[in-house]
Amino acid sequence: MALCLHESCGIEDRVWLPESCSLKSDVSLHHWCIHCGVVKNISDDRSKKMGYWTNVLSRIAKCFSLTQSQKRLVVKELESHECFDDLYGTTGSVQKEVFVKAIRKYCGLHEIIIDSYVH
Ligand SMILES: [Zn+2]
Repeated sequence: MALCLHESCGIEDRVWLPESCSLKSDVSLHHWCIHCGVVKNISDDRSKKMGYWTNVLSRIAKCFSLTQSQKRLVVKELESHECFDDLYGTTGSVQKEVFVKAIRKYCGLHEIIIDSYVH
């Protein structure tokens, strides 16, 4: 499926929504995509470009002597998730969850270790 290029709705069409999933979150006006309806993430929990995650992976790989093929498998897994291409409606937490899962799966590292490399 081709990724939606996302085009935000006009200012007058914005909708009131909570800023994050947290219960005490403030509501504010959000843009949404006029093609697919995805709501733009405007919380502090920003999504990051793929380069950020591959950098983190490189640092982890150096410290734990991961092999090239382990790294390749992790990157391939990340690339199969839209949340790394499609930053519009994605939060950093969603990406981190996928990242941690992929490294646990292929490298067997503990979540707490992986977590300490993600800032
Ligand atoms: Zn869209």
